[in-house]
Order: sequence, then structure tokens, then C-alpha cells
Amino acid sequence: MYPASLQALIDSFRRLPGVGARTAERYALSVSEMTPPEIEAFAASLFAVKDRLHKCRICGNLSDEEECPVCRDKSRSQGQIFVVQSAKDVIAMEKTGEYHGVYHVLNGLISSSKGVMPEDLNIDSLLERAKRSEEVILATSATMDGETTALYLDRLLKKECPDVLVTRIAHGIPAGGMLDYADEITLSHALSDRKKM
Ligand SMILES: [Zn+2]
Repeated sequence: MYPASLQALIDSFRRLPGVGARTAERYALSVSEMTPPEIEAFAASLFAVKDRLHKCRICGNLSDEEECPVCRDKSRSQGQIFVVQSAKDVIAMEKTGEYHGVYHVLNGLISSSKGVMPEDLNIDSLLERAKRSEEVILATSATMDGETTALYLDRLLKKECPDVLVTRIAHGIPAGGMLDYADEITLSHALSDRKKM
């Protein structure tokens, strides 16, 4: 039995993805050994992500500013839009250093099982941006929901912006695989081997 205060911290850590009972205990014990300034900085960082972090007004990526660093970077090609389901995928792709266009974060996938409809996603602003670009690269995962979303967007883009090239990244990524779990080489290939839809 842990003291209630320690147990509460263990329970908080257990809510994080991939953290089991033993890891949560180790984290909580480690926090309990921090100095007061360390604890203060740790707690402040938790509040800061909630207070400061929000969605980029252009692409939906996570940012402390109104516009994310990618959208603010004028050297990035505005003619290429890489469409992903979450901000984690932007981070994964940026690590490859191979992509020089901009992103669009959908914030989810169309899913009949989870009841997520197209209007629940960040799609309207994608259409507006696509009209001013040359290529839209659909990089949703190779899961059923990922494919459904890609097909939906392909149809919509061909209807609303017929001059825009729509491509789909190659899935050397294992079926059902998520972008953020793929390594950087796999991701670079997924980009360079993309196919016209
Ligand atoms: Zn942005």
C-alpha cells in the first residue's frame, strides 16, 4: 500500500500511453525525490502545455504561436500539402528532413465504428488551401479508417479542386501501421514512392 499522495501520482502516470504499473511506480517515486525547484519546473511544464499549446490556425499542427513553425517558415513550398491524421505524424515526418512542403492535420480519421464523420475533421480549410496548391499528398495510415479517409478526400479534392494532383504515400509501412511508429527511412520511401490517386 502506497501513501495516498503517492498512489494518486502513480494513477496519473498510469493514464499515459504505454505506462504500466511498474513504470508508473518508478516515475512517481522518482518525482517524489525531486527538489522543490525541480518539482515546480515539472508542474509548470504540465500547465504550460495546456495554457500555451494550441492548434495552428493554418494547418492544425500543434504550436505555442498562432501559426506553427512550418507555416511560419517561408522557405517551405506552399504548393505541396502533406495531409496527416495527427500532429504526431508531423513530428515523425519532420524528423526525416526529407519533406519541404507544408502540412495539414485532420485531427482524426473518418470512422463509422467510432462515429467520426467528415464534418468532425479539419477538412474545410484543407479544400481552401488545396485550391492554391499543386499537390495534396494523402498520408493517413494504412488502416481501414485511414483508407476510408484517403478515398473520401481524393473524391472531394477531385470534385472541388480538379487541377490539383492528389497522391497517396506508399505503404511500405506495415498494414495497419501508424506513421509515427515508422522509422525515418521507411517514411522517406513512403514519400518518394507515393502514387497518383
Ligand atoms: Zn501550421
